[in-house]
Amino acid sequence: MTQVSVRSTSTLKGLRCRECGEAYPAEARHVCEFCFGPLEAVYDYDAIRALTTRESIAAGPHSIWRYRNFLPVTGEQVIDVGTGMTPLIRSHRLARQLGLKALYIKNDAVNAPSLSFKDRVVSVALTRARELGFTTVSCASTGNLANSTAAIAAQAGLECYIFIPSDLEAGKVLGTLVYGPQVMAVEGNYDQVNRLCSEVADRHGWGFVNINLRPYYSEGSKTLGFEVAEQLGWQLPDHVVAPIASGSLFTKIHKGFQELIKVGLVEDKPVRMSGAQATGCSPVSQAFREGRDFISPVKPSTIAKSIAIGNPADGVYAIDLARKTNGNIEDVSDAEIIEGIKLLAQTEGIFTETAGGTTIAVLKKLCEQGKIRPDETTVVYITGNGLKTQEAISPYVGEPLHIDASLESFERALERSRTLERLEWQQTSV
Ligand SMILES: *Cc1c(COP(=O)(O)O)cnc(C)c1O
Repeated sequence: MTQVSVRSTSTLKGLRCRECGEAYPAEARHVCEFCFGPLEAVYDYDAIRALTTRESIAAGPHSIWRYRNFLPVTGEQVIDVGTGMTPLIRSHRLARQLGLKALYIKNDAVNAPSLSFKDRVVSVALTRARELGFTTVSCASTGNLANSTAAIAAQAGLECYIFIPSDLEAGKVLGTLVYGPQVMAVEGNYDQVNRLCSEVADRHGWGFVNINLRPYYSEGSKTLGFEVAEQLGWQLPDHVVAPIASGSLFTKIHKGFQELIKVGLVEDKPVRMSGAQATGCSPVSQAFREGRDFISPVKPSTIAKSIAIGNPADGVYAIDLARKTNGNIEDVSDAEIIEGIKLLAQTEGIFTETAGGTTIAVLKKLCEQGKIRPDETTVVYITGNGLKTQEAISPYVGEPLHIDASLESFERALERSRTLERLEWQQTSV
């Protein structure tokens, strides 16, 4: 592996084991040799404070790279494909339905280039991969990561191998193949794909964004915290609801908030962190509910495939964070997930995938249970786009009315649909 020289303005100091604290250089490695704990990027926060103001951030690119000083890269050249700075939308109609006074939707369903939050983590991981001298990159994916890795690798001119479970949604498979990587559809679930990829990484020396590059990859999710704080006028919300697959995104949003506090860019205040899982793959919410601090792995069975990780790497950290911040972790059924997708679409005009349906359904559940107070400023993270998981929702959205190209045919259809609507209304109101 080629070593890169560290720029003097680089704020990245190296890697450190989250469990035992052992220090490592900023190489492509992700587990501690002594205790097998996960490695995490370490920064020089004095340098970040000296280099960074609200104004310098605002003057930066309109992408995640405006927060470069907080990201684990060292070189001059970053891969900027316009990732990040997605809309933070003040909700009115959904907020009213849920009884919340200040609800905001962070909409990564329209992230660039591949329409999910994964573009954040991949932009960072591939930038670091290039700095470390990799020419071939890869990933084990539940779908969105495949789309993102393939897209950004194509833009950066990196060779790309993608590993996915063989039962993914058609939109996610096509949305990977189009960029021209080699795609391996593995007979098995995500956890089996991930295990296989660890072996491939060892043997072939490729840069796997979520395995040997994971300490860099995971830091990309902090930008979900940075952007929300900046978009709220440099303030932190009271409560966050976000999905949990491996638990990385969930914990890194909070890390982003903590770093802004540490360098003085926002005022210190507690943020309650609540996580969302699908009941068909809910090892983290089960452990949370039962008061355990270990995860019992499960075999996933849910339409929310993008968050179906049965043995989540950061699950224990997610539980710890929810407890520590007085948040919650809940799960919802596939039927509730479909209702969640439709609720967001029909109140806010945002079409999210199953992961977003999960998050909205959990938001609703927490409101109904009184676990989110009406006066809390709440941010819900929508992490993926509904056009990618059409088969999950297509039986539940109705059909267009087929008519001839005549006014008469239209009027007849209109009359029929109004009668039907009246009947349905009468049925539901008895
Ligand atoms: C991957 C993914 C997540 C969660 O990611 P983790 O960091 O592994 O918890 C959430 N939503 C969508 C749409 C995803 O693709």
